Amino acid sequence: MSYIDPHIHMVSRTTDDYQRMAQAGCLAITEPAFWAGFDRSSAQGFFDYFRQLTEYEPKRAAQFGIQHFTWLCINPKEADDPGFAREVVSLIPDFLECPNVLGIGEIGLNKNTKNELIILEEQIALAEKYNQLVLVHTPHLEDKLKGTRLIMDALSASSLDPGRILIDHVEEHTVTEVLDRGFWAGMTLYPDTKVTPQRAADIIEMYGNERIWMNSAGDWGCSDPLAVPKAQLEMRRRGHAQASIDKVTLGNPKQFLSQSPNFKLK
Ligand SMILES: [Zn+2]
Repeated sequence: MSYIDPHIHMVSRTTDDYQRMAQAGCLAITEPAFWAGFDRSSAQGFFDYFRQLTEYEPKRAAQFGIQHFTWLCINPKEADDPGFAREVVSLIPDFLECPNVLGIGEIGLNKNTKNELIILEEQIALAEKYNQLVLVHTPHLEDKLKGTRLIMDALSASSLDPGRILIDHVEEHTVTEVLDRGFWAGMTLYPDTKVTPQRAADIIEMYGNERIWMNSAGDWGCSDPLAVPKAQLEMRRRGHAQASIDKVTLGNPKQFLSQSPNFKLK
């Protein structure tokens, strides 16, 4: 079965992972800018990271026939110092010219602090100014529902179309509100904790398959770059129609991402 993994941090994964993903049917991935497992000491560290995301990773992915797209931002975990964050944000406009950039992401909140919220609003303004799609990170550590609502309120106060915004890391208690407010929803599959492939299949059975996708969010921590094909198998085991499996793992990502002129599936 073919699929797109619309949220995975390949800079933290090995080349063998690309190979296994290609063998499992991965056609394309999109890689949001995020925390790399350590705090960067200067804005220059982000400049190098953005070059990695726009120059090096697309070539590494192409060796296995996987298309690589990316999103740029300063992540909420490193955005608590507004002066530093603004320096990083000022680097982004030049990189928006790169052919594999789809938008601003993953922006959002980590600990729901005031400074995180200020930088979130400034990056929403950046997306407005440059007419970019938005990929949103919702908090795991603090109150997810409260953080998700704060983020949605900030987004709704902008002129951005909710149909061009995907809110990721939804769970059973946040998915309905995200969809009801017109946003797209992403389910992040984790090997043991939080949303497993089984829980993702439950959520689709309960809330339907419109405006929703799933991803592995594979990164430097415990994560599974094959989580999406595993969820496909779980849906098949439960008797979901092939068309429905294809919709959430290929059709929906394609539909959302195609709103960016840079997303063209070969
Ligand atoms: Zn992520």
